[in-house]
Amino acid sequence: MRALRDLPSVDRLLAGPGAALAERFGRVTATDALRQALAAARTAAKDGGEVPDADTLVAAAARQLEAGSESALRPVLNLTGTVLHTNLGRALLAEAAIEAAAEAMRHPAALEYDLTTGARGERDDHVRALICELTGAEAATVVNNNAAAVLLVLNALAEGREAVVSRGELVEIGGAFRIPDIMARAGVRLVEVGTTNRTHPRDYRGAVTDRTGLMMKVHPSNYRIEGFTAAVSAPELAAIATDAGVPLMNDLGSGTLVDMTRWGLPAEPTVRQAVAEGADIVTFSGDKLLGGPQAGFIVGRADLIARINRNPLKRALRLDKIRLAAIEATLRLYRDPDRLTERLPTLRMLTRSRDDIAAQAARLLAPVAAMLPDYTVQVIDCASQIGSGALPVETLPSAGLAISGQGGDAPERLAARLRALPVPVIGRIRDGALILDLRCLPNDGALLGSLSHP
Ligand SMILES: *Cc1c(COP(=O)(O)O)cnc(C)c1O
Repeated sequence: MRALRDLPSVDRLLAGPGAALAERFGRVTATDALRQALAAARTAAKDGGEVPDADTLVAAAARQLEAGSESALRPVLNLTGTVLHTNLGRALLAEAAIEAAAEAMRHPAALEYDLTTGARGERDDHVRALICELTGAEAATVVNNNAAAVLLVLNALAEGREAVVSRGELVEIGGAFRIPDIMARAGVRLVEVGTTNRTHPRDYRGAVTDRTGLMMKVHPSNYRIEGFTAAVSAPELAAIATDAGVPLMNDLGSGTLVDMTRWGLPAEPTVRQAVAEGADIVTFSGDKLLGGPQAGFIVGRADLIARINRNPLKRALRLDKIRLAAIEATLRLYRDPDRLTERLPTLRMLTRSRDDIAAQAARLLAPVAAMLPDYTVQVIDCASQIGSGALPVETLPSAGLAISGQGGDAPERLAARLRALPVPVIGRIRDGALILDLRCLPNDGALLGSLSHP
């Protein structure tokens, strides 16, 4: 029997079996973990537990260090059926964008430096022309995300004044983005017009005073009002704003640079359309349907963009070189729309056919069932969502695996078990089963590899 006094010192452990730990995790971190292992052993021994030997102590410290060295931001398999899942990081970037971002991280870049004159340049220069080319807008700038874009535009163009918005468009996007709250933070007084289901041109006209600073249209991304409804179209509203002598801002939310219907996807307004319909400023997200990194695009009239760029908030909300590089590379792909579904992962997943997904489900049925012997696995038809508030009503026909087991909490227990895997598998629970929608599974091996972990 070993006694408490036989416990080795930290120094002896570091000189002996703990040396490898110091090599791998650094001396300070390894010393700390060994100290904790020794303290735990002492406590356990006082309670009558066995006094461990040096190898056992080092193994305990190693387990703790390994658990702590796992990245906190873990890659997962998104089998939720929601392609642009905000909580799972939205769009996946194109390879070209990933490479561009990596290059920007590795090297100095001419971020705000004009290589022709050697004078100071502007960081928007790298993407402005591309954005204008793809949207038909006169000018453009980019900030941290679309919420920031909306905040900045409101503050720059209407601070201390009123912004007129339809009651049918006072949306909450999720993650505490509510149009009325953003307005208040921007120092803009909200003037609501119309009703939840019906707003008319006369409602907007009647709200115009000498305090009006802006008219705002918000794309109702994540809900739809149906039945007895009326909304004022963007061109009509543009005419009203022009008469009132104030700019019209159109927050598209997702917005797309190409017409999605060419791939059989539900129609979503394009930025080019919104610009052509007379909006003076259009805002949209980088990591929704556009398929790039998180960003907020602001496009429109050159004089207004210049005012926005002079606002001090712009400096606080600006983008770094890494994301600018990724945005530029992503936008370049839009010059060849015919190859977008190959190159943009988001679009590739959105346009995957039900048959292709069903074939994958059929292939995976037997091996997955063999890995989960306590459960019943079936191939099912299901419906994917685009996500991030884009086109919420329309779903995409998809296929997947439905896994059910004994006991009412079987799906929850299995879901927890799959979340605990080294590469967590995230599904959704429906009708007493865990559903794995395979639309966003990159290949069969990704799921089998993850599940094969004990
Ligand atoms: C998503 C969305 C936003 C917020 O965009 P983020 O890029 O998430 O900040 C704002 N407005 C609308 C209409 C949206 O759909």
